[in-house]
Amino acid sequence: MSVNDYEVVIGLEVHVQLATRSKIFSWSSAAFGGDPNSHTDPVCLGLPGTLPVLNRAAVDSAVRLGLAAGCTIRTRCRFARKHFFYADLPKGFQISQFDEPICDGGAIKFRLHGELRSVALTRIHLEEDTGKNIHAAAGVSFVDYNRAGVPLCEIVSEPDIRSAEEAAEYVRAVRALVRYLGIGDGNMEEGSLRCDANVSLRIRGAAAYGTKAEIKNMNSFKNVRDAIEHEIKRQATILDRGERVAQETRLWDPARGVTQSMRSKESAHDYRYFPEPDLPPLVVTEAELAAFRGSLPELPEDRFARYTGSVGLSPQDAGVLVADHEIASYFDAVVSAGAPPKRAANWLINEVLARAADPRRLGDADLPVPPPALAELVKLVEDGTLSGKLAKDVFARMWTERRTAGEIVKAEGLAQVSDSSALEAICQRIVAAHPEEVARVHNNPKLIGFFVGAVMKETGGKGNPKAINDILRRLLGPASS
Ligand code: ADP
Ligand code: MG
Repeated sequence: MSVNDYEVVIGLEVHVQLATRSKIFSWSSAAFGGDPNSHTDPVCLGLPGTLPVLNRAAVDSAVRLGLAAGCTIRTRCRFARKHFFYADLPKGFQISQFDEPICDGGAIKFRLHGELRSVALTRIHLEEDTGKNIHAAAGVSFVDYNRAGVPLCEIVSEPDIRSAEEAAEYVRAVRALVRYLGIGDGNMEEGSLRCDANVSLRIRGAAAYGTKAEIKNMNSFKNVRDAIEHEIKRQATILDRGERVAQETRLWDPARGVTQSMRSKESAHDYRYFPEPDLPPLVVTEAELAAFRGSLPELPEDRFARYTGSVGLSPQDAGVLVADHEIASYFDAVVSAGAPPKRAANWLINEVLARAADPRRLGDADLPVPPPALAELVKLVEDGTLSGKLAKDVFARMWTERRTAGEIVKAEGLAQVSDSSALEAICQRIVAAHPEEVARVHNNPKLIGFFVGAVMKETGGKGNPKAINDILRRLLGPASS
């Protein structure tokens, strides 16, 4: 059999670090980095006699995320202890949620090759992060507890995903949502967004799911795709041989491009989950929910619908703009400063984004070309003051010299000559000077290019090509058009 005879089934568990100031159950900083063990306190270190106190900001973030994903929010839920032993987990258990997560159901919506996809969520729950083991050379290991107790939202999907590419797009959509809501930075490389992929295959048309393997350690979108692609091929080969896929956790090794067995998979009962006795039930009131619902920002899908609808952009452009809320906000600001949307989108995508490197820079106050400055440039193109080519040069200078388009055009005399009497005079001169070509243009309409070129040269490249064309066609008569 070939890979195509199998249907791919994928469910993702995405961990999002919440950008709260302090940790989920204690007061030390939840910020990324810092000297090892500088962001610690007796609670997150699991010292005896300490008690957790829930950080309400983490709850607010989880609720907002749940509402944005269309989940049902539990007005009353609880935390549970999940037991396992590892040096980065000083208490010997992780405070998580088990049978009563804060959010149930919902879906993540995104586009795959232009088609709307909706992947159902099982749940979103709150938990604390673990510390980090650092394996140095020569059998020496260190533990850094700065990350221990940083709040996490775990977003668990249903096994609704059908390809590696779709999995990567799903993770992108989760990241976009997290950033739109401002609850985290969703940085995969720094580990503030982590994804475990559960992958199985079944013969097409089969009713039951096959046995899954869980893949960890994918710290980029490319890794997510590559790891799942590889895992699909690995499982297909095993099934082709008539063997069984082992239920296990596998680690992606990006350097070698393979997944490797890490451990056989624990079952829920191995974790000895039980309700956390040191925390009271978590209550979210209807009034709080209503307030959060009312204050949600415009979300990626809604923005996409607006851009492709009333704003009139293509789905491709709209997709690029909504991918990050900084890009979309920048675009909205350019349009509200008076630039026509289609042109604004082109300039933003082809020039601004290409130079900004990281889309999050678009929100910076010191961006070389802020939205009103781009709007000014786009309007100069729209009204014919600048040709597209001149405008590109002006944009490049705006970016490096931090001057406005108006200043550059004025200082350099760059404005396109559209003044028709000036152009008319030049055109007449050129036509009069080339009687032979005038005679030939009637049989060879392409010769108009010769005249346009000659007029352009006279204007030093600043003539408005459309105006020149119009005048020449009038002077040379109907046969030339
Ligand atoms: P476990 O008990 O192993 O943690 P869960 O049922 O809790 O498994 O599911 C964990 C994740 O695995 C979920 O995202 C779910 O969608 C996904 N999943 C479950 N079964 C399969 C399967 N057969 N193939 C692929 N993914 C699966
Ligand atoms: Mg599970």
